Amino acid sequence: MSTAVAGTEINEVLEQLGIKEENQGASTGSHWFNTRGEKIGSYSPVDGSLIANVNMATSTEYEASILKAQEAFKEWRLVPAPKRGEIVRQLGEKLREYKEPLGKLVSYEMGKSYQEGLGEVQEMIDICDFAVGLSRQLNGSTLHSERPAHRMYDQYHPLGIVGIISAFNFPVAVWAWNTALAWICGDVCIWKPSEKVPLTAIACQKITAQVFKANNIPEGVSSLIIGDAEIGKLMSNDKRVPLVSATGSTRMGKSVAESVAKRLGKSLLELGGNNAIILAPSADLKMVLPATVFGAVGTAGQRCTSTRRLIIHESIYDNVKEILTNAYKQIKIGNPLDENNHMGPLIDKDAAEMYKAAIEKVKASGGKMLVEGDILTGEGYESGCYVSPSIAEVENHWEIVQHETFAPLLYLIKYSGEVSNAIDIQNAVDQGLSSAIFTNNIRESELFLSQAGSDCGIANVNIGTSGAEIGGAFGGEKDTGGGRESGSDAWKIYMRRQTNTINYSTELPLAQGIKFDF
Ligand code: NAD
Repeated sequence: MSTAVAGTEINEVLEQLGIKEENQGASTGSHWFNTRGEKIGSYSPVDGSLIANVNMATSTEYEASILKAQEAFKEWRLVPAPKRGEIVRQLGEKLREYKEPLGKLVSYEMGKSYQEGLGEVQEMIDICDFAVGLSRQLNGSTLHSERPAHRMYDQYHPLGIVGIISAFNFPVAVWAWNTALAWICGDVCIWKPSEKVPLTAIACQKITAQVFKANNIPEGVSSLIIGDAEIGKLMSNDKRVPLVSATGSTRMGKSVAESVAKRLGKSLLELGGNNAIILAPSADLKMVLPATVFGAVGTAGQRCTSTRRLIIHESIYDNVKEILTNAYKQIKIGNPLDENNHMGPLIDKDAAEMYKAAIEKVKASGGKMLVEGDILTGEGYESGCYVSPSIAEVENHWEIVQHETFAPLLYLIKYSGEVSNAIDIQNAVDQGLSSAIFTNNIRESELFLSQAGSDCGIANVNIGTSGAEIGGAFGGEKDTGGGRESGSDAWKIYMRRQTNTINYSTELPLAQGIKFDF
């Protein structure tokens, strides 16, 4: 292979990360299972090349990983939480060391810009830092008992195995958000990454293995299973996996939720969005422009928080339309490893075809294309995954607008009158992930944030919909699944709560004053 990746050969990047085609299948302290199964080819959307073939796990190998994880849990749960935090601290340090090659591989395998690839690794580092502090704060409450000489408190214990199913668009950060918290909570993790980006997952497992080896941590604390939806289904139906954290489409989330609920397990679902920005009459258009363009075309519109709908007050509608259509003419599309480009490719050719089909549907519904995107061909676009972005004038209730198109397709919707009308439009979709308003009117912004405002998990004022800091709980409502990951008290989902009552008297008073004399 001789592909140049930001000045480095791809082979060099893989070598820096300890991945070589000939040693795939070798166990490296920690383990993943990739023998004997079918192969998945990891193709780069950047230039269409086959980066490597990776073997898929079989159900027998899945079984082995569960047994290994169960064994590891017995040991790991007894390690004091701050000591587990120390392991996560060391992982954060290792990620700092590997930030560049890992960021490059993320960019090359998934197609996001190198800057965003580095940003994703930075998120992993940030969550490690967050988790280290948290490892000393897994606190329950002390409660007053109604009985004399009794003490009550609640405390949190680890759950066991956390199954992580992740999507292609955040190939490494979502794993770190889950594992860093799950590990400090005393859980062990089994990760099934997206089959579209297996190499970045192997790289993470290799980096983790170095830390685990240096600290004699049992291998089964971190397992990686490469496979498709079938492995995800095994996990969802498996009673030995008390928590399944699944990130991906709403279709996938509904299937996981049903299987996990049938066995009364817990699921943490991070699913699709249909995110809107409301532009009120006082919106500062200088800020709106970068927020919207980054939100709509950043990561080629393949973020769960990408801006899909702009709900614009009629008094500024024409102005915004003109500014945006002009800005779109300047978007540079090309190799995401070249910092001069604003937008890289979609993940694969199927995604490009789906984008084309969505544009056709918009037109068939009566939408007006202000900027009509297409699949790009010619020099630099040989992979067939590059597209140009679109802007369309639409109505919110159309079926295609109600649906999440995972591509750079931005809808303009006009509102008139009060901001409450815009809020009604923004809430009138099935998804509830991220939302934003641009306004300088405090009444409008407070209404937007109130219980009568945005129904999304994330609601921002004078910031776009895209991206989030790890310190806040991340996730969304309705068809987005209701899960919360990362900051705030999201750690509680990774633990089970226990209420303890201790009697230090010589009597046995019953609760609620009940007498039981004999
Ligand atoms: P996808 O649903 O096709 O696949 C996601 C993962 O689920 C993959 O690992 C896949 O193998 C697995 N999977 C698929 N069907 C399954 C099933 N029935 N049972 C178990 N596992 C199954 O999603 P994708 O195309 O990789 O990612 C894009 C989607 O993910 C978008 O909808 C995006 O909004 C969403 N997403 C959401 C968040 C969030 O935090 N809310 C973050 C990233 C991506």
